[in-house]
Amino acid sequence: MTTTALAHDPMTAADRCDRCGAQAYVRVLLSSGGELLFCGHHGREHRDALQGVARDIQDETRKLATTPATAPADER
Ligand SMILES: [Zn+2]
Repeated sequence: MTTTALAHDPMTAADRCDRCGAQAYVRVLLSSGGELLFCGHHGREHRDALQGVARDIQDETRKLATTPATAPADER
């Protein structure tokens, strides 16, 4: 019997939230074998519900914090 490590490939811009189509930052591997992708917003929103059915949750929402702010700094 072999032990297969879960592949945790980094998510890319091609990975899209199943709910709204935004870039995905949360990948949920279901106990049933399926996979769900969520953006930071929906990943957070569904996290509690997903804990019950998920085999593993890959959370890359921390990447969002590194995104440069585009808002003007001198807004008055
Ligand atoms: Zn979303």
